[in-house]
Amino acid sequence: MFLFDNHIHLQPSGRCVDAINDFEKFGGTHIMLCHTPYYEFTGAAPGDYESDYSLTLQIAEKVRKETNVNVFVCIGPYPGDITFLMKSMTLAQAKEKMMKGMELAAKLVREGKATALGEIGRPHYPVEPEVWEASNDILRYGFKLAKDANCAAVVHSESATWQTFSELAKMADDTGLPRWRVVKHYCPPVVDEKENHGIFPSVLAGRDNIKSMLKTSTRFLLETDYMDWLQRPDAVMAPQTVPRNMKRLLAAGAITEEQIFKINQENPEKVYGIEIR
Ligand SMILES: [Zn+2]
Repeated sequence: MFLFDNHIHLQPSGRCVDAINDFEKFGGTHIMLCHTPYYEFTGAAPGDYESDYSLTLQIAEKVRKETNVNVFVCIGPYPGDITFLMKSMTLAQAKEKMMKGMELAAKLVREGKATALGEIGRPHYPVEPEVWEASNDILRYGFKLAKDANCAAVVHSESATWQTFSELAKMADDTGLPRWRVVKHYCPPVVDEKENHGIFPSVLAGRDNIKSMLKTSTRFLLETDYMDWLQRPDAVMAPQTVPRNMKRLLAAGAITEEQIFKINQENPEKVYGIEIR
């Protein structure tokens, strides 16, 4: 049985591979390792995407070597970077830097070093209208590059409302990226396609979320958004949560093996164009 966590972060200064040992111990088999900026920990300059991305790729390689877990990577300029960059440059310069970061990420996808663009998007906290607009421009550019690279885009944004879904759907349509290739990370459990506009939900793997979504559909991915911060060890959820909850629900008769297959294998294979083996 394959069990897939669609959104995990690992920090060079965190538990790193050790956290994935927990995932594996509970039966987890595949992860989407999501790039996160490391400047808060390393003191590196924000916006140095070349070195920041290579750190994520190195962590992925380390996990592959030291565990039996299959690691896919999503990579891109983190939406909150814009705020950090603007401490030392203008908005136009920050935008330019992040656009370049997006191009580099797309190149890594085309070279097969990463699977998807992400997490990209717009700040989850209030910003000035011009910062919001710049973030949308960067995101739209990401969608365009994802379309050209034939890959998915993992979106980080404000918590998704009907309006968020409709804006993302429009952006996807405008750039030619299929809506199902837009993965809304940290998504509320909204699986009805009339409500999520065909955007692909990636939802926190709590058992109540899973049970409520299964009443409607299996068209979703599960994530822990594990942050790997030592001062908040199990934030957002502990790394073993996806396999542990899949097995608990299966034992309780609340999910079938067929549904587990759809969520952990068929869905990621389709959305990302990968093979879960
Ligand atoms: Zn994340």
